[in-house]
Amino acid sequence: MNKVVIIGCGNVGMSYAYSMVIHGSNIDELVLIDVNKEKAEGEALDLSHAMSYAPKNFKVYVGDYSDCNNATIICICAGKGQNPGETRTDLIHKNYEVFKSIIDNINKTNFNGIYLVATNPLDIMTYITYKLSGFSPNKVIGSGTTLDSARLRYLIGEKLDINPKNIHGFVIGEHGDTEFVPWNNVLIGLDKADKFLTKKDMIEIEKEVVGSAYEIINKKGNTCYGIGMSLLKITNAILYNQNSIMTVSAYNKEHDCYFAIPTILNKNGVKKSLFITLSQEDEERLTKSLNEIKANKSKIFDK
Ligand code: NAD
Repeated sequence: MNKVVIIGCGNVGMSYAYSMVIHGSNIDELVLIDVNKEKAEGEALDLSHAMSYAPKNFKVYVGDYSDCNNATIICICAGKGQNPGETRTDLIHKNYEVFKSIIDNINKTNFNGIYLVATNPLDIMTYITYKLSGFSPNKVIGSGTTLDSARLRYLIGEKLDINPKNIHGFVIGEHGDTEFVPWNNVLIGLDKADKFLTKKDMIEIEKEVVGSAYEIINKKGNTCYGIGMSLLKITNAILYNQNSIMTVSAYNKEHDCYFAIPTILNKNGVKKSLFITLSQEDEERLTKSLNEIKANKSKIFDK
């Protein structure tokens, strides 16, 4: 039996839930948990009413932490989001307290599945989950730059009028302001990106990828559909044992932190992170990004 528990039924949690309903995910039960129980109850009812027209019927209900016992995946989307003008890292202390209370509760259960984290600042919240849960790192995954990589592919596709599915490129590093595109590793069809795009195009596209969340938050107050679909893709990689490559936030032992690089995902969570060959300039950008993550990590762990 596959059971997914969503903790935090706000914009992100419910977009993920709705993506699973529409896709007809390979799950039997979807459990919703939120401090605002009434909201979760409303969401469960609303989603259940979509089941008659969904490709697969599964049970959606409001639960409590005892429902985590036999869960396959717990996805944490709880906590504060960015207000206009706030960076992701501004949320660190508020969301640490939220995670502490959530993971303390889960630790009292027999949960032995996979943690999937969406809350920002993403790489730090994933590290916090790893530390507080005591789980092996392959079973704690952050959404990383899956969303940002989707934005990259969309923008290149728009520019060139090519299906984003035929664009193979990733955003790597922090899910935040220091993330970047290793352009040497972007393939459009079977050709390198510089056959199609000028340096100026690349700079503009990358700037738009990094600034997307700010632009959307300024316009509508939050982002949710892109991350909902990204979480669905990660969930499918786990539930269908796909060995898919995605830029989730995965643990790196050498640096003792989580960050996004292309990573193979299957039913055990992270199978392996792939170390890509980077240009000298990109190596420097990755170091800068890791330094940012480490500096933020110390705000919580080196007090
Ligand atoms: P939201 O405010 O709409 O929802 C958060 C939910 O968490 C609320 O329903 C709230 O009641 C609940 N909550 C708070 N404390 C809780 C607790 N202790 N236990 C259970 N539930 C609790 O926020 P949102 O827009 O859904 O964003 C959620 C998080 O996702 C934010 O940190 C946001 O920055 C992040 N986010 C991440 C990505 C990504 O790419 N990873 C993309 C978009 C947003």
